[in-house]
Amino acid sequence: MNRTLTMCSFCGKGPDEVKTLIAGPGVHICDSCVATCANVLTKETGKTFSPAAMVERATWESLQHWYRRHCEEQRASKLGIEIIARGSEGWRVVIDLKGTAMSGVVFEPVTHKHADTGWHICKVENDQFQADGSASTLGRIVEIFSSWVAEREHQIKRAARGDI
Ligand SMILES: [Zn+2]
Repeated sequence: MNRTLTMCSFCGKGPDEVKTLIAGPGVHICDSCVATCANVLTKETGKTFSPAAMVERATWESLQHWYRRHCEEQRASKLGIEIIARGSEGWRVVIDLKGTAMSGVVFEPVTHKHADTGWHICKVENDQFQADGSASTLGRIVEIFSSWVAEREHQIKRAARGDI
């Protein structure tokens, strides 16, 4: 990913400087800024806010935002998002891209294996984002999709402004 195309709207860091960049409507936020928010909230409210849980929550919001906007743009849309638990085989996530702004956009396949966090594989095939992962990787898979969408939306915005 090119860091000049997408960055955190709060601290200005690019994708290669942060663990996760989450897309919201017209803004992005990185995991460390989410952690800062979590600390402020914890201090101010006296309740405990976990940065990891907040990143995960923001990532799901981002997916929902993307889906809802697509449905508003194309009322007859048959866009499907499937999240399937396959027992000991872990998760399978399939997101239709046909008819969306992500159709035909290059996706660099991701293969990750780690002793602690398990494994996940993400790719784009047949105009679908397809991911498989072990039991604890569902949030990470959705994060990967969300970051890819964030990157693309930023590129489109820059192109519309004539920056690239
Ligand atoms: Zn940030």
